[in-house]
Amino acid sequence: MAGELRTWQIGDVKVTRVVEQVAPLPYDGLLAHVVPARLAEHESWLKPHFMNEAGEILLSIHALVVESGGKTIVVDTCMGNDRKLPQDMGPFTTGFLADLESVVKREQVDYVMCTHLHFDHVGWNTMLVDGEFVPTFPNAKYLFGREEYEHWSSAPEDVNIDFTYGVQPVVDAGLHELVESDHSITDEVVLEPTPGHTPGHVSVKIQSKGERAVITGDMVHHPVQLAEPGWSSHPDAQPERAIQTRKDFVARYGDTDVLVIGTHFSGPTAGKIVADGDSCRFECD
Ligand SMILES: [Zn+2]
Repeated sequence: MAGELRTWQIGDVKVTRVVEQVAPLPYDGLLAHVVPARLAEHESWLKPHFMNEAGEILLSIHALVVESGGKTIVVDTCMGNDRKLPQDMGPFTTGFLADLESVVKREQVDYVMCTHLHFDHVGWNTMLVDGEFVPTFPNAKYLFGREEYEHWSSAPEDVNIDFTYGVQPVVDAGLHELVESDHSITDEVVLEPTPGHTPGHVSVKIQSKGERAVITGDMVHHPVQLAEPGWSSHPDAQPERAIQTRKDFVARYGDTDVLVIGTHFSGPTAGKIVADGDSCRFECD
């Protein structure tokens, strides 16, 4: 298993993390506009979960299984096996599917929710069977944001997009459904528009029995960006809009009881945004 299964309970909703890969990388391999002296100030809370001793930042690629009201939702599906990915990555062979199936059998998944259509969020939408990529979750509705789908279907050659393997076979099978950016999947699980990383990007809010959480998607890749919302991620399609979205997110969820579950956050993955001097930090459970 690439990383331990972690679970969180938000009222009646259970969230389980299934890791595909965790990668260390130099900060400037992911982030732009970083002020090294500021980064050094944050090291005390970034290490060891989000930065290693060598000063590399850690990026996890994982899916989140959300169980709510008798429905099972997989939020984001990582990179997938057996395919050539953008930027000369892959093909990979990981044990992700077996790990996922220790949580839920693929036939029992009701919804797949892709926060956006970048290749590391649509991979396990499909799997290779007899030389053909077919939907991994045959009984699921795959929910794609309407704005997101319409944007990238007119620009499928973008360097971060994998329509061929991760999206088109789902559409061909008739399993996709285009939804608005504030769509309610269940009474407890509702989308929230967080555009900028991609034009139709969404986060996923969870509310149950007075408890609250939010799954970020890629509106933030690394916890340091909660403290420094102006530090862009290289793949942000609309950097200025993404910065504003991060600032709004921190204003909305900072110093609240909302559990922030990071889609690429390594280690504990979830925590709270806590004010810290003129900035804030990410405090894990
Ligand atoms: Zn991503």
